[in-house]
Amino acid sequence: MPLHQGPGDPRPDGRLAVNPFYGLANPVGGMTDAPPHHRLPDGPLPPMSAYQLVHDELMLDGNSRLNLATFVTTWMEPQAGVLMAECRDKNMIDKDEYPRTAELERRCVAMLADLWNAPDPNTAVGCSTTGSSEACMLAGMALKRRWAQRNGDRYPARARPNLVMGVNVQVCWEKFCNFWEVEARLVPMQGDRFHLDAQSAADLCDENTIGVVAVLGSTFDGSYEPVAEICAALDALQERTGLDVPVHVDGASGAMIAPFLDEDLVWDFRLPRVSSINTSGHKYGLVYPGVGWALWRSPAELPEELVFRVNYLGGDMPTFALNFSRPGAQVVAQYYTFLRLGREGYRAVQQTSRDIARGLAERIDATGAFRLLTRGDQLPVFAFTTAPEITNFDVFDVSRRLREHGWLVPAYTFPADREDLSVLRVVCRNGFSADLAALFVDDLNRLLPELRAQQHPMNRDRSAETSFHH
Ligand SMILES: *Cc1c(COP(=O)(O)O)cnc(C)c1O
Repeated sequence: MPLHQGPGDPRPDGRLAVNPFYGLANPVGGMTDAPPHHRLPDGPLPPMSAYQLVHDELMLDGNSRLNLATFVTTWMEPQAGVLMAECRDKNMIDKDEYPRTAELERRCVAMLADLWNAPDPNTAVGCSTTGSSEACMLAGMALKRRWAQRNGDRYPARARPNLVMGVNVQVCWEKFCNFWEVEARLVPMQGDRFHLDAQSAADLCDENTIGVVAVLGSTFDGSYEPVAEICAALDALQERTGLDVPVHVDGASGAMIAPFLDEDLVWDFRLPRVSSINTSGHKYGLVYPGVGWALWRSPAELPEELVFRVNYLGGDMPTFALNFSRPGAQVVAQYYTFLRLGREGYRAVQQTSRDIARGLAERIDATGAFRLLTRGDQLPVFAFTTAPEITNFDVFDVSRRLREHGWLVPAYTFPADREDLSVLRVVCRNGFSADLAALFVDDLNRLLPELRAQQHPMNRDRSAETSFHH
């Protein structure tokens, strides 16, 4: 399908359906003003009519709270909503006009630098973004520019830069490599290893490697990649060959889980080889979409020429971003959430999500119909497939049947070299309560006898697969 081209009009005449009630003053007016779908209407509509038309169409969107596919926050407190409404008119880039919003962004960066154990939180640098995708683009650009500076004699004339990562990386890294002309060196999955391992990462590095991406944790199954082991393998590589390859940690989800629940896990700036980290404020940072964060260990990791300056109280405010204008509301909501929860609050929220994920994984295991790939004990996320003896239904059937009950659970096939494996994935987020999890298991248990009675998997057409690698 071409970009943003709809599959055609839902109605043959290409117009929205109206109703006599939509005529504000003149009831008959509501029957005559049928606006077209795909052409700017000739004239205006009363606000009530326009609102009702848009509102009614959106009723067919799924219920976001039952969306077990997304990592992105679907519930915040009303107070956060009020603050966001108060700030929706503020442009994040207008640092001079909205100096307090700019200050809240700086405080968030300082809090994250401290949370991620930057050697000196006062000198760590970072910025807010629209999400992890933009943060990863910025981090990748910094890696590429640093490599280019070190290799000015060979680049761009002869050498082609590459980035080493697992095949399980989120699609934003494929985008980065495509947009910025970097070769993606992907380590395939193998057997029961569904993410990057240290030895394969080191083996793929050469003098043109701009960095290694380690993911905390993988969107495919919620597992943490072994960041410390990857760093150790690269230390050994440096000792052997002199190659000094930096690591970027894509902590889109895990960088807001591990600091609270896995304090003994060393994955962050405590590892000298970790030069930058990103996270999605709108995932386990617990803010509505779209906010993300990118941080560098120190100014040395972020080439100065990538940073632009905007006017700020008559002075210079450095910015590093792909966008220019973007809303300030999400950054304010992030600061609110940091202030509101503190470390203890975050720990309680994330522990609840992990407990629910682990409990749900166990109950799914107990049905006997499935095999768990992960158990929800890293990210509060787990993936499972059908048990080996199940041949009459598959994960796509389960996903489709759960949807009949309102549950959105993605089913998808793994990448190389495990294309033979198809899984379901459940993401437990704040707001997916133990009560909802119990209702989910009830619905699944009610479906299983029907699924077991099938002759064969229904969904033979693989083009019906869903994939939610976000
Ligand atoms: C979600 C995700 C991304 C992309 O983040 P957005 O905030 O959706 O742009 C990148 N990497 C990983 C590991 C993710 O989980």
